Amino acid sequence: MSQTPFYGPDFELLSQQDPDIAKVLLSELKRQQTTLQLIASENFTSRAVLAALGSTLSNKYAEGYPGKRYYGGCEEVDVAEVIAIDRAKSLFGAEHANVQPHSGASANVAVYAAFTKPGDTVLAMSLPHGGHLTHGSKVNFSGKWFNIVSYGVRQEDELIDYDELRDLAIKNKPKMICSGATAYPSLIDFKKVREICDEVGAIMWVDAAHFIGLVAGKAIPSPVPYADVVSFTTHKVLRGPRGGMILSKAEHAQAIDKAVFPGMQGGPIMSAVAGKAIALKECAEPAYQRYAKDVIANCKVLAKSLEDEGMRAVSGGTETHLALIDIRNTKVNGKVADERCGLAGIVLNKNAIPFDPESPAVTSGIRVGSPATTTQGMGPNEMKSIASLIARAIATDDQKKLSAIRGEVQALTARFPIYSA
Ligand SMILES: *Cc1c(COP(=O)(O)O)cnc(C)c1O
Repeated sequence: MSQTPFYGPDFELLSQQDPDIAKVLLSELKRQQTTLQLIASENFTSRAVLAALGSTLSNKYAEGYPGKRYYGGCEEVDVAEVIAIDRAKSLFGAEHANVQPHSGASANVAVYAAFTKPGDTVLAMSLPHGGHLTHGSKVNFSGKWFNIVSYGVRQEDELIDYDELRDLAIKNKPKMICSGATAYPSLIDFKKVREICDEVGAIMWVDAAHFIGLVAGKAIPSPVPYADVVSFTTHKVLRGPRGGMILSKAEHAQAIDKAVFPGMQGGPIMSAVAGKAIALKECAEPAYQRYAKDVIANCKVLAKSLEDEGMRAVSGGTETHLALIDIRNTKVNGKVADERCGLAGIVLNKNAIPFDPESPAVTSGIRVGSPATTTQGMGPNEMKSIASLIARAIATDDQKKLSAIRGEVQALTARFPIYSA
């Protein structure tokens, strides 16, 4: 397999032992190298992180916490977890860090478990306005087990309506107020949310899954000084391994740790914990701070260029790594746009816009993000090209034209190689 020195000698072994799965690894690498990754929650983690994920740390059971494990032989993995915790606390200026959650959703289960009981009232961002499944979807544990009251954005400017949030908080007396979303392109006023939480005696929970990398890179304000608890994923802008993490004030440390283990997880994935430690070290470098600023600058250009192509950026643009684009002017819905872009090698997702007249399965919008392309080294000029490629893909259902665009995508991505030898 000389075309994939990136995977190293173990790949040769895998190819002999299990050619079916070896082929998937190769094809997925090729897919990531030759198509445009605009999914706002995706990124290319470093080879150092991939090395940790593919290591023998995966074999180790380590239920409990460093120095207090339920199994023997944890002396080596303890070192990795202590380093990860120390780096998280130092990078974010947090009083406490739990690095064990398997994912963002797992971290959120732990937050509910630490601060609420089933049936309690929680205020969270409405899903059609950008909230996450774990913020009260009817098909998620959060919507089934809790009394979720949703707040949303104002119709005029598509920004969070803090007056509505305050009114709902006073009326419903929630145990906890969640801020954070999966498709909100603007910044959140954490100071204002803190004031509302204090007024009604609610726990302030920030689900920072999407934007925590921008905080790590000091490109946007941090929720950590304000929030009781901040949960997030480590694989989005943060660019680490797939996983979750929780930061909190010292007074909540015990509740959080107990909620994660034994509350809802068994053994932590120690290979991922080591990967989180590596990513946190990378995030503390000046190069990562430049990256975080570039991610935002690129996304602004991408949103503006899509507007120049006749589409509309929700809330007037973006202040982060993602933009939500209302494509009703194109007369194509989100579902069809997503499919056409996919055929052209442009990977993005359909997304509901606030007050969307279409169903969630169809939608009137697309969501685009700049974390992965920025990691590749693309800049404003490439963002302009990408906007034009998207506009052309959305506008045609001609397979030949879509294939031609795919060729242009391939030429573009070839200039910004990832995981090359
Ligand atoms: C991505 C995301 C999650 C879930 O993370 P997973 O790792 O997919 O479980 C939770 N909350 C928000 C706001 C997210 O964007």
